[in-house]
Amino acid sequence: MLQPATIQALSRRDTGGITWDEVAEIALPAGPLALQVSLGDIEGEIYAQWEFEPSLGGSIGQLRIDLSTLDHTSVVLTGSQANPVARDFTGARLPRPGASLALFVENRAVSPAIRRMISVTCGESAFVHWQQTLTPPAQWFYVEITNICNLKCPFCPSKDLLRPRQHMSLALAETVFRKIADYIAAQSLGEAYVQFRPMVFLHVMGEPVLHPRLQRVVQLAHEAGLAVAVFTNVTMINRQNIGKLIEAAPELVTLSVNTPTELGYAKLGTKDTLNDQHERVKSYLRERAEAGSFKTAVDIQYMSSKGDNVRGEGLVQSTQDVWRLFRRWLAINRSIHRHQNVSFRSLPRLQMVDMANPLSPHLDPSFRIPLGYGVNLTIKTACSFGNVTLPKGRKVRPTRFGQCPYNSPFQQMVVFVDGSVSFCNLDYENTVNLGDLSKQSIEALWNGTRMTRTRNCMAAGILNEPVCQRCLGVVAPS
Ligand code: SF4
Repeated sequence: MLQPATIQALSRRDTGGITWDEVAEIALPAGPLALQVSLGDIEGEIYAQWEFEPSLGGSIGQLRIDLSTLDHTSVVLTGSQANPVARDFTGARLPRPGASLALFVENRAVSPAIRRMISVTCGESAFVHWQQTLTPPAQWFYVEITNICNLKCPFCPSKDLLRPRQHMSLALAETVFRKIADYIAAQSLGEAYVQFRPMVFLHVMGEPVLHPRLQRVVQLAHEAGLAVAVFTNVTMINRQNIGKLIEAAPELVTLSVNTPTELGYAKLGTKDTLNDQHERVKSYLRERAEAGSFKTAVDIQYMSSKGDNVRGEGLVQSTQDVWRLFRRWLAINRSIHRHQNVSFRSLPRLQMVDMANPLSPHLDPSFRIPLGYGVNLTIKTACSFGNVTLPKGRKVRPTRFGQCPYNSPFQQMVVFVDGSVSFCNLDYENTVNLGDLSKQSIEALWNGTRMTRTRNCMAAGILNEPVCQRCLGVVAPS
């Protein structure tokens, strides 16, 4: 039985004309607990809840956030610098009584630069304070280890890429990972870090499994002290590559099946059937279970084309599609793990709001439906890469005003296969080109003139980069 523990807002403070509840207090009991946090009233209620429960071989828990006014990519519950405990919908370790926890909540509706930190000390009083800056440290790192791809997905501009096709060299990968790790350490990002561990995503364009030294690349990131997310379109997931992935043991593998239909699958430029694709996912899950490789979380990902502005057919269209996929993969996942004695919650808990509308915009793009055993179903809106890959009959009228819905210039660093850098992973041709990470420091690139100008403009609601003007432009029939 979970014991409740509640944080209450005790006072209010005015910051830049916005009133926030401030100063929270909490006493957490030892042992199993449920923790609820009410963050007060900011353009409607912000509500956050964590649940933790102990289990065999270590304690795990769940983090739940009502995303109605939050940028959900920016919610994190951390422990000590070395031991953060949760991010978004990931499993979380039960904090030891007396451990310090911190929750960071970013409200992009107010300003991309405003961030709220709630620090909770188990068993002691807690406090809240503000961090307001226009030059926050980079926190999301995408590293393109290859820009070569074997598919031609309609919604992806990879097939028309103008940049030279290549794999990232091991020497460059090592340099990039070391610089990211050193930067994170120098910025003391452990507690302030937006993710539950300093993670690099080995993907921008291209199919990472095509990199001939993927295992070594993951190893280099691990040696630098980084957690690793590997994305794959699944088509190359054969016995050999499954073995490599299991041995490399990245912290997250995203198996992007993309589409639930044969039509959609054929449109990706594939050469076999959707059933073959499903069998590859099952093979990976089976091998992962048999190897006991539960350190690696798995997302089974599908694309949604709900709305007018996504190119591609046969993608997820409706809530019913989502729950059909959920039932299918839940049964498969349980069957694969039925003999496993692992410390993951096998019965996923779902919130009614999630059940009601899994395609609601505030849950996208990383809405995860837990399937148990560290496996999630992920539904993501197929994007048009900043209104580049629009469907036929639609065109964009760029705008000079707006703010990035993903806060990218305030938190995202993208390192392309040649070491060049942008602040947005939708800038797939690197039109921004902040510089070269093989020759310059992250600080020089992130705090340079161009980056600073972009952030200052955006904070004032002005878009100075053409890629952003197009991305936030108005899409209408042509
Ligand atoms: S192109 Fe600009 S506005 Fe669009 S997601 Fe990237 S940074 Fe944000």
